[in-house]
Amino acid sequence: MINHHVYEELVRIASKQNVLMNECLKDHLYTKLGGKADFFVTPETYEQVQQIVKLANKENIAFTLLGNGSNLIIKDGGIRGIVMNLGKLNKIAGNGLKITAQSGARIIDTSREALHLRLTGLEFACGIPGSVGGALYMNAGAYGGEIKDVLESCIVVDRNGELLNLAAEELALDYRTSNIPDNGYIVLEGTFALQAGDYEEIKAVMDDLTFKRESKQPLEYPSCGSVFKRPPGYFAGKLIQDSGLQGKQIGGAQVSLKHAGFIVNKENATATEYIELIQHVQATVKEKFGVRLEREVRIIGEDLEK
Ligand code: FAD
Repeated sequence: MINHHVYEELVRIASKQNVLMNECLKDHLYTKLGGKADFFVTPETYEQVQQIVKLANKENIAFTLLGNGSNLIIKDGGIRGIVMNLGKLNKIAGNGLKITAQSGARIIDTSREALHLRLTGLEFACGIPGSVGGALYMNAGAYGGEIKDVLESCIVVDRNGELLNLAAEELALDYRTSNIPDNGYIVLEGTFALQAGDYEEIKAVMDDLTFKRESKQPLEYPSCGSVFKRPPGYFAGKLIQDSGLQGKQIGGAQVSLKHAGFIVNKENATATEYIELIQHVQATVKEKFGVRLEREVRIIGEDLEK
């Protein structure tokens, strides 16, 4: 149920054009599936972010952060309360050997800016479709590099709406995880410490990684990328392939024929179908190989009311 008092307060804080009601979230997600948000807010300043957190606390209203939507499945019943997206806070600025990027900037664009400034260290991120905030949240990584290797510090808002300056070590960054969810931090910006490099060499690495990605991943269909984390001692894609699951379809969701670690939204899948297929893959791999596949993608939101 939409609370009009909350709507008016959000408009007072972030102005009318930045507050939407009953927003279709599938338009903001790489999977192109899922329900609606009661409120969808896109603040333009750090202070607005702080005020929105304080409002949510005061009104005791649920609050969810959405980055670039490339590692999230939102259930078909959508999300109650406030969904905040920081896409309008997207500046990227170089300073000597450092780059500071606001949380709504794409990590791909941050990596391109590093190339432009002839700085090396962020090449691994040149094809990761998340925002800077989402990349810190899960210590995104690829081809041997990860955020942990280059992040120096960040600015976050805590649960009380206060700004904190944190060193990278304070985020407990590890394989596809951090303490950001446990602390309820909202990342506002990250500063990356890089090294001076050669433009042609940096570009060659980025071109090579882009070629590898485009030739191996089913980028022609909507998906959330790799669904599962790499289980110790195995590769998720190989286990799924060896379980004979490639091409398995539930409704419009399919285990990709190009890369078994991906589940694609082939034909207008619902979130329910996509999640059912994830669970089917987990159960089959457990039964055949005794290996538990842990999800990399986050699933949030509510089921459709019956
Ligand atoms: P979202 O999906 O929007 O959100 C993910 C989580 O981050 C949510 O819980 C959200 O609340 C939280 N979050 C978002 N912004 C903030 C913020 N500002 N402060 C606090 N929390 C926040 N990942 C890799 O690591 N390596 C890869 O090579 C890779 N390849 C991919 C390829 C494809 C085709 C796709 C679709 C995805 C891929 N991913 C990969 C997954 C994804 O891009 C990363 O996980 C990325 O870091 C998610 O960022 P996002 O902004 O899209 O986050």
